[in-house]
Amino acid sequence: MDENGVAEGEVLDFLCQARERDASFDRVFSSMCTRPHPLAIKAHQKFIETNLGDPHLFPGTKELEDSVIAMLASLLGTQNASGYITTGGTESNIQALRVARNLSSERNPNVIVPASAHFSFEKAASILGLELRKASLDKRYRVDITSVENLIDENTIALVGIAGTTEYGQIDPIEQLSHIASSEDIFLHVDAAFGGLIIPFLEEDHKFDFRLDGVSSITVDPHKMGASTIPSGGLLFRRREHLDQLMISTYMKEKQHSLTGTRSGASIAATYAVFKHLGRRGYKRIVDRCMRLTKIAEKRARSLDIDPVIKPVLNIIALSVQNLDEVVSKLEKRNWYVSTTIKPKALRLIMMPHITEESLRSFFDDLEEVISYVR
Ligand SMILES: *Cc1c(COP(=O)(O)O)cnc(C)c1O
Repeated sequence: MDENGVAEGEVLDFLCQARERDASFDRVFSSMCTRPHPLAIKAHQKFIETNLGDPHLFPGTKELEDSVIAMLASLLGTQNASGYITTGGTESNIQALRVARNLSSERNPNVIVPASAHFSFEKAASILGLELRKASLDKRYRVDITSVENLIDENTIALVGIAGTTEYGQIDPIEQLSHIASSEDIFLHVDAAFGGLIIPFLEEDHKFDFRLDGVSSITVDPHKMGASTIPSGGLLFRRREHLDQLMISTYMKEKQHSLTGTRSGASIAATYAVFKHLGRRGYKRIVDRCMRLTKIAEKRARSLDIDPVIKPVLNIIALSVQNLDEVVSKLEKRNWYVSTTIKPKALRLIMMPHITEESLRSFFDDLEEVISYVR
C-alpha cells in the first residue's frame, strides 16, 4: 500500500482501465451468469451496507431474505420450505451435504453423485470427509438409475440428482431418484443451481422439486438464470429441522446457519426486487427467449453438419465439432468466449439472456468460416 493516498479521479481511471479489459457479455457464450437486471443493480446499491451476519441490526433486510425463500419455495412446489440465501451453488451444495452427514452416524459416509456433477461436490466431499461415488450416465447423459442403486450401501448418507447439468443442461430422472430415496430412507439433494430458475418456466413439466416426496433439499441460484447480482445462491430444505442442523449460536447470542459469517444483504435485496418485478410471467418471457435462441443455434449448427451431443433440454447446446481445440482457439482470436465439455468433447454454448439473435448469427458466421479454414 502506498504511504500517501491517490486522488479519487486517478483511482477511478485505474478502475476503468481494469474494467475495460474484462469481457463484454455480448460475446460470452461460456458463462452461466448474465448481466443483472437493472432493478437488481439499483436494489443492490441501496443495501450495500447491510450485513446479515448481524441480523438484529438489519431486520428489514432479514425479512426480504425470508420473502425470497418463500418465493423460491412456491416455485419449487411447496408452501413451506426453509432455507437461506447463500453465496452460490457451491455453498448450497456443501451445506446440504453437511446436513445429510450430520443427520447420520456413519463412520465412513459416502455420497452418490452423477458422473456429471459439478466440481463443487469435490470440494464438499473434501471438506466434509465424504467418499464421493460417481454413478455412470446413460446415453443421454442422465444419471443411470441402476448404477446409483448398485453404489448404495449402508454407509450412503445422500444421493444427489442434477436438474440442469453444467455441461449439457440435462435433467436427471429425479422422480426415480426420489423413489429410491424414499424407499431406502436416504437424503436426496437436488442440484438445480442452473436449472431451478428455468425448468419451472418451460412448456414441458419436468418434476424435479419438492412435489416429489423423496426430495430433501434443493440448490437454486438467483445469480444465474435469476438475473440477480452476485453473490446470490439459494438453499432450501423441505424440513425446518434440516436447516436447523446448521444452526450455531454466535457469541452475540444470535443464531446463524450460513457457512460465511459476515454476509451482504445487497444481493438478497436485488433478488427480492427482480423476483417481485418480473413475476412468473417475466421469467417465462426470458426463458422462452433463451429457448428460442437455443433452437436457432441448433438449426444453424445442423445446417453446418454439426450435431448437438444431446437435443437441448435447457438453454445449453453442446456441439460435436471436429478439431475442437483448433476451432476454439480461432474463435477466441475473434474475441468469442466459449467453453468446451470434457466427455464427450464438444463446443458448449449457453444461451443466457444477454445473447441476442444478432450476436448469435454473427457467432455462427464466424464459426462457419473458422471450420472451413480448419478442415
Ligand atoms: C453453477 C453451478 C454450481 C456452482 O454454483 P456457484 O454459484 O458457481 O458456486 C453448482 N451446480 C451446478 C449444477 C451449477 O450449474
